Amino acid sequence: MHRKKFLQSLALLPLFACKMKLQDFPKMTETLPHTEKMPVLFVGHGSPMNALEDNAFTRSLKKLGEQFKQEGKKPAAILVVSAHWLTRGSHVNIAPKPETIHDFGGFPQALFDAQYPAPGSPELAKETAKLSALIHETDTWGLDHGAWTILMHLFPEADVPVFQLSIDYYQPLQYHLDLAKQLSALREKGVLIIGSGNIVHNLRMSMARLREGDTRPYDWAIEFDQWVTEKIVERDFQRLVAYEQAGEAGKLSVPTTDHYIPMLYSLGLAGEKEEIQQAYEEVTFGGISMRTFQVG
Ligand code: ZN
Repeated sequence: MHRKKFLQSLALLPLFACKMKLQDFPKMTETLPHTEKMPVLFVGHGSPMNALEDNAFTRSLKKLGEQFKQEGKKPAAILVVSAHWLTRGSHVNIAPKPETIHDFGGFPQALFDAQYPAPGSPELAKETAKLSALIHETDTWGLDHGAWTILMHLFPEADVPVFQLSIDYYQPLQYHLDLAKQLSALREKGVLIIGSGNIVHNLRMSMARLREGDTRPYDWAIEFDQWVTEKIVERDFQRLVAYEQAGEAGKLSVPTTDHYIPMLYSLGLAGEKEEIQQAYEEVTFGGISMRTFQVG
């Protein structure tokens, strides 16, 4: 990173003192082997029960994981940006053995018994912290269900190291799109980066329909899911930062931004001409979009 850019990014974060020495920055990832550029995923994770279920969505994840293997793209490590790790400041988990966190309630015991015993990647997590002065190391997190419920299908052997980057929930949406760009060097170190959230995520209205035994998607959910997809095709990611422009459908689909933000990381990592392929689309429970796509 250039000194000027580094100083600019420091200015953006008065909340945290930067422990990194300036001379450490140019060394970033130089010691790690260079690989072919890894793809990036955005996965709409939906219900935690997907961890245990065999359905069209989980089969699409299995297929993606198998494709990576067949194409010789087994990752050196996986970095997940999950909707379920919200913090003040951006934190990367350097724990060598991240625990499986069961961060939900009211589900069957089998889901609480589920484990995803993948190792962490302290080395790559520390390299990630070196990529931006905005990212701080921590060992106080494991794998939340935004990560492990999808990884159980993508990489069922749990033999690829996994680490997570938190979402600074005190920052505007632009921050996340910009921070993602600073992570792109990881793709050339064999790291598969996955944003895990949901483009449309209105749990309250989904539960209201579910209680009536109605699983039809809401019109606004379909409308906003389509609007986002159009912007992705047009590569107008800036419009996605200003999603309120989608009107009422946007407001209903994104009542809080926690599940929307991971998508901005996946898109921020997309190269200018890189292909973005839709891997799965469905609106479940009335107001949860399971749309999943691959960059590169
Ligand atoms: Zn979720």
